Amino acid sequence: MPDRPDYVVEIDGLAEIDGVSEPAADPEKVARPWIGVRFECCDVYVRVYRDPSGTVYEGRCPRCMQVVRARVGPEGTSSRFFTAG
Ligand SMILES: [Zn+2]
Repeated sequence: MPDRPDYVVEIDGLAEIDGVSEPAADPEKVARPWIGVRFECCDVYVRVYRDPSGTVYEGRCPRCMQVVRARVGPEGTSSRFFTAG
């Protein structure tokens, strides 16, 4: 698995972010879950939103374009804040 994600994020417990707990009847209107990632390479903090597929978070450092990925899975942490770089 050369494309292994950096982190694994627990899928449960993310549904009620920002008080949104209703069924995703209209995905366009439901707030997308996100995690906070601090890129130590450039000392910047960004929100990384969940992919529409719901299986991965993927974001980039806004300065050097380093990619950070977090896979969603039941074995992961429920933490929403990570450090990359
Ligand atoms: Zn960077």
